[in-house]
Amino acid sequence: MHRTTTERHPDAAAWIPHARKPSLERDPVNEITLGNVTVTRIEEMHGPVGMTPDQFFPGSPANLWKEHRDLLVPDHLGADDDLVQVAMQTWLVRSEGRTILIDTGVGNDKTRPAVPGWDHLHLDYLGALAAAGVQPSDVDLVVNTHLHVDHVGWNTRLVDGEWVPTFPRATYLMPRADFVHWNPANNANVAGGVNENVFEDSVAPVHAAGQVQLWEGTHVIDANLTLRAAPGHTPGSSVIELASGTDRALFLGDLIHTPLQVFAPDHNSCFCEDADAARTTRRSLLGWAADRNALVLPAHLSGHSALEIARDGEAFTVSGWAPFPRY
Ligand SMILES: [Zn+2]
Repeated sequence: MHRTTTERHPDAAAWIPHARKPSLERDPVNEITLGNVTVTRIEEMHGPVGMTPDQFFPGSPANLWKEHRDLLVPDHLGADDDLVQVAMQTWLVRSEGRTILIDTGVGNDKTRPAVPGWDHLHLDYLGALAAAGVQPSDVDLVVNTHLHVDHVGWNTRLVDGEWVPTFPRATYLMPRADFVHWNPANNANVAGGVNENVFEDSVAPVHAAGQVQLWEGTHVIDANLTLRAAPGHTPGSSVIELASGTDRALFLGDLIHTPLQVFAPDHNSCFCEDADAARTTRRSLLGWAADRNALVLPAHLSGHSALEIARDGEAFTVSGWAPFPRY
């Protein structure tokens, strides 16, 4: 049965953003090199989502969280409050001379009635990008892995009362299936859900400016990066494979929100639209990464933000963390 996102997780309203002031100096520890590609973590915010593990991951047993508690606390699970910890971050990728942003967070000034903690934010995300050496006009390509509220926010910004593309030169790659699904003209469930207003303020203005390129199936970005459909979390959810030299990486979007889903890949987040497809896609992609020793970069992992995994029987285990500093 299809239900709206809001019906399934009203506690998303309890999200508490923790913005970190970006350093004015570029922090080399925040950037890694994979083959001919560099990857930099750009933080919008991090902190507790206001949901317990059972709320965020319905049906995940308490003893499973207990079993992995040492690995999860405090970066991914609060030590005292038992609340799931996540981050909002963009992966800044420089490849073949182009500046690419993967996912654009929640954004500023947006009206978000279903998620008060994301309503009318005023965070210095553009300052964080500037600290990494990127001005909005430098961005060549924006990749929205899917069109949930927390992946398209900085697609636009408010200028003189109008939503305009934040990145004036960029092409924005969006999955066609999500472009159709989240348009309120096609989907009565958007009203009142977490994606209320999102199409209007963060997707349509970019489309009207002629900057959106819709894709489906597989889309080759360049010789190092390939977008692939990974449906389940949303109909158009996608991942980006990186293959450069001998290095491999996988930008996983929202296929996992916590390292626990590496150990127990059948547990979906409450934000997954199609439970069976999300489980199948997660298992398949984690397997792809484990078999290639690929660095896994989810959209919302806190702590070191990215990890390496290995097969462990029917599931997987965490075999290492990326060298990004812990939040
Ligand atoms: Zn997300």
